[in-house]
Amino acid sequence: MTEKIKLTFLGTSDAVPSALRNHPAVLLTYKGENILVDCGEGTQRQFRKARLNPCRLTKILITHWHADHILGIPGLLKTLGLSGYNKKLSVYGPKGTKFLMKSLLKLFGVREDFPIEIKEVSGRFFAADDFYLEAKSMRHGVRCNAYSFIKKARTKIDKKKLRKLKISSGPHLKNLKKGKSIIYKGKKYSAKKLTYEEPGKKISFVLDTSLNKDIASFVKGSDVLICESSYSHELKDLAKRHHHLTASQAARIAKKAKAKKLFLIHVSQRFSKNMKAILKEARKIFKNSYLPKDLDVVEIK
Ligand SMILES: [Zn+2]
Ligand SMILES: [Zn+2]
Repeated sequence: MTEKIKLTFLGTSDAVPSALRNHPAVLLTYKGENILVDCGEGTQRQFRKARLNPCRLTKILITHWHADHILGIPGLLKTLGLSGYNKKLSVYGPKGTKFLMKSLLKLFGVREDFPIEIKEVSGRFFAADDFYLEAKSMRHGVRCNAYSFIKKARTKIDKKKLRKLKISSGPHLKNLKKGKSIIYKGKKYSAKKLTYEEPGKKISFVLDTSLNKDIASFVKGSDVLICESSYSHELKDLAKRHHHLTASQAARIAKKAKAKKLFLIHVSQRFSKNMKAILKEARKIFKNSYLPKDLDVVEIK
């Protein structure tokens, strides 16, 4: 179990894969959570290539039901069943997901060897002690969600200061985290003096959408924004027609949202010989743009 948030780019292509890029799928790992965002065809093999165990999965977040984002689900679930997966798997998606997910399981004869919870979500839909998940509707011709994983900011005790002031650790420090002062060996110490605020983290996933005003506000302040970038600026009309984004649009969203880093995925295979042009286009507008390859890992401390 790790306290760090880890992102594994399992697939970074769009609807047509290449020898180097598989269909969309990104895995977010944090403590005991393994959250898969989209599950394109062949995602379960990408797990193996990344030396990750799919049985650790806890949640699948489906952005929308276009084939390139969901075709990996039946095979993956079948493997989980055969591997003795015994947890509850939560599957979240936009409206329509319950019917479509049940149809998919039926079509492929996937037996429910383990409990599968299917939820159609918008807004804040899952909350743990230290993080929560949010969904926001996008515009893509079909129902589509963008997602954010938000790790809450927390108050931490400054151990260096404790040592300096010769204050021992133990349950007497408990109130500090609640913002209350403590008395130690007859002396009063304020919470402000002995604690500091560890900032929260936000990771956002925007896959398959046309440009709309909700994106920047939804991903506002993201430490990492993973965004589709199907086309280049020259093909902006085509992007609009097919309800997708260009690299420039993704970069402008990152800039407006004051994101720290932008990772472009779902890049059309037509750019496979010149991926650098997509990155260059984005970097002109937003310097901290990156173009991850399949199986790249990013850690957010
Ligand atoms: Zn797609
Ligand atoms: Zn799509």
